[in-house]
Amino acid sequence: MHLYQQQTIKIHNSLTGKKEVFVPLNEGHIGMYVCGPTVYSNVHLGNCRTFMSFDMIFRYFKHLGYNVRYVRNITDAGHLVDDAEEGEDKIAKKARLEQLEPMEVVQRYTVDFHNILEKFNFLPPSIEPTATGHIIEQIEIIKEILEKGFAYERNGSVYFDVVKFNESHEYGKLSGRKLEDMIANTRELAAQDDKKSPQDFALWKKAEPQHIMRWPSPWGDGFPGWHLECTAMSTKYLGETFDIHGGGMDLKFPHHECEIAQAEACNGQSPVRYWMHANMLTLNGKKMAKSTGNSILPGEIFSGENNILSKPFSPSMVRFFMMQAHYTSILDISNDALLASEKGFNKLMEAIGSIKSLPEGKATDFNVKEWKQSCYDAMNDDFNTPILIAKLFDAVKHINLIKEGSETITASDKELLIQTMHDFTFDILGLENKQSANVDSEKLSGVVELLIELRKEARENKDFATSDKIRDQLADLGIQLKDGKEGTTYSL
Ligand SMILES: [Zn+2]
Repeated sequence: MHLYQQQTIKIHNSLTGKKEVFVPLNEGHIGMYVCGPTVYSNVHLGNCRTFMSFDMIFRYFKHLGYNVRYVRNITDAGHLVDDAEEGEDKIAKKARLEQLEPMEVVQRYTVDFHNILEKFNFLPPSIEPTATGHIIEQIEIIKEILEKGFAYERNGSVYFDVVKFNESHEYGKLSGRKLEDMIANTRELAAQDDKKSPQDFALWKKAEPQHIMRWPSPWGDGFPGWHLECTAMSTKYLGETFDIHGGGMDLKFPHHECEIAQAEACNGQSPVRYWMHANMLTLNGKKMAKSTGNSILPGEIFSGENNILSKPFSPSMVRFFMMQAHYTSILDISNDALLASEKGFNKLMEAIGSIKSLPEGKATDFNVKEWKQSCYDAMNDDFNTPILIAKLFDAVKHINLIKEGSETITASDKELLIQTMHDFTFDILGLENKQSANVDSEKLSGVVELLIELRKEARENKDFATSDKIRDQLADLGIQLKDGKEGTTYSL
């Protein structure tokens, strides 16, 4: 008997807007596709949150004994600047600016992406396919859609005919839009535009002479439209219909809407049974954007090299912080929120580290079996990690009472408690027990704060020799002090 046979999972399906009982297409097997990054810059923290949510979901399915095929692609061609239908490829633009081969850009940022995800303790997906590795499959799908009459060719480009598709299908059903409204709200097509209707989207784009990322096709040299790669790769590795498709909320329209249209036009059936969308991450209450300076990279959080946080935070701590919010809620990251979360994280890790040495008694003061099921119930309810973490803290409370001698636990309940805490904290939430490292970082933080205080006093007494000595010797140890309006902070 597998664990999954004892649990009923409910998933919020973005397609229906309802929480539905999850039944995989093939018993014991799950096919899951998540739209991966476009590798033209360092991975965003917001994207990390999205991928982390699906990593947690992947981990839970595996824990339950499911055989999961998890496909997360790398977009290395076809994604144009501003997610637009015309213009430059994001990767080609970066390559032009930095005078690199496009594939050097792809390699550089794929390595960065993997490095950051590894620090966050992600499990690798089962398959990580690339758009450029599936040009042939994409061309085959375009041929099929053309043959079925849902696309047309114009001057070496091929466009999906949204109006035609909408006559027999429902374009906009995922994002809750109606084609009539979309048409009413768009301006007239420019005279030089090849499209029949502004809602039509490119399946294949003719490459202008200066466009360096190009492939031969039946319609001439060009490159695939951005939405097509996900249809090609999900169909190839998971089949014409599969269980779960995930991604960030911002991909619902047009990207996922177009994926549905392409797959339905090509295969005649709906591609995905459960659509899941992860919500965004804000910083200090505002949308993250490089242009406004309200932005932070994961590496800058880990090192403390930024002007937003007072100290460095470990990847596992940041992961814990993100898991404290439900994946469908907006999460705001700030210095205060991270500091508060760090206290909880250290408390949890300390309690887990001490369970083994708890004294064993004749009875247990709380029902460990019931508590264990409540942890599963939280996860079964659309992967509710904040509730799960609250349950883990219920156990922490009992662990501390047993430590003090106010409660007792039997040897067998203690075993069950150790196993369950381990399963949910490390295997499912994906946290890492770097307890000693965390305690050390807390101590280090205390020592640095003390030195900052002494330096401040020295400066107030005009003892600049001492204040400079503190700053320089800390710098020699790799600890940089930064003086700002709000006081002095440090980075490692
Ligand atoms: Zn996609």
